[in-house]
Amino acid sequence: MTNVDNVNNKSGHNTGPDLLCINKGWMGRHMVKLDVVDSTNLYVKNYEEKLQTGTVVIAKAQTAGRGRLSRGWSSPNGEGIWMSYILRPDIEPSACGGLTLVTALALTKVLKRLSGLNLQIKWPNDIVCNGKKLAGILTELSLKDMKTDYVVVGIGVNVSTTKFPDDISRMATSLKLEGAVCEDIDLIVKEFCEEFEKCYEAYMATGDMKLLKEEYQQLLVNIGREVCILKDDKEFIAEAIGINDEGELLVKKESEITTIRAGEVSVRGIYGYV
Ligand code: ADP
Repeated sequence: MTNVDNVNNKSGHNTGPDLLCINKGWMGRHMVKLDVVDSTNLYVKNYEEKLQTGTVVIAKAQTAGRGRLSRGWSSPNGEGIWMSYILRPDIEPSACGGLTLVTALALTKVLKRLSGLNLQIKWPNDIVCNGKKLAGILTELSLKDMKTDYVVVGIGVNVSTTKFPDDISRMATSLKLEGAVCEDIDLIVKEFCEEFEKCYEAYMATGDMKLLKEEYQQLLVNIGREVCILKDDKEFIAEAIGINDEGELLVKKESEITTIRAGEVSVRGIYGYV
């Protein structure tokens, strides 16, 4: 069934015997199912050496779910898809950030198809529905001798939450709150693995977003909108016009086009989150 049994139970991680195979391809071929974990990304990083490429770690609850820039991710028990997976792409470290966009594309396509909702991508790493955040993605890169060693991609999808913590209640939503026709976590994960595999292979064929750019842009909520780019204490307002092959956001201000790299920036709408 799987090759990730016998993982030592470090830092209270409950590996359990609940190991599944959900995809015939390499992505999700091995899966670790946990009841509760601090963070699925941290779990993958802890056990990296024992996990085959494409192994998916999924938990019913995270006690310390994480977003970008050390932000938290609310992950209540049984109410969402809290999962991470490990990749070992043979690409430059600078190209690994694009895997966030690849994940966003695959996840949006699958969630749209299964939920029947009108979903869009907020560059680079969020999936939005009616202007609210339904899902987020956190990609972390590990280097060895300045080269890509492995990449952990974490996904959080709000599935059945109906009440969010006060600080995010105005900007967060769930499949249930939006009236999705499907809230089946196992099915969503299975279809995501299959879709991700295809998108990943398209990305790896060129090492960039060339083959996926068109489709990603069609789903991009920011296109044609004024966005506010926040970096450290500075703000910069411009119109988003698309992405380039590297997955950077292209913004236009007074006919000058600038590229914005994900990582240290946050993008907001000028009137709110989107
Ligand atoms: P950003 O929107 O800047 O890209 P992140 O991707 O780092 O932010 O996500 C972390 C942020 O998402 C948190 O600071 C919080 O505002 C919000 N958040 C935390 N948990 C959830 C959740 N379950 N659903 C939606 N938004 C959340």
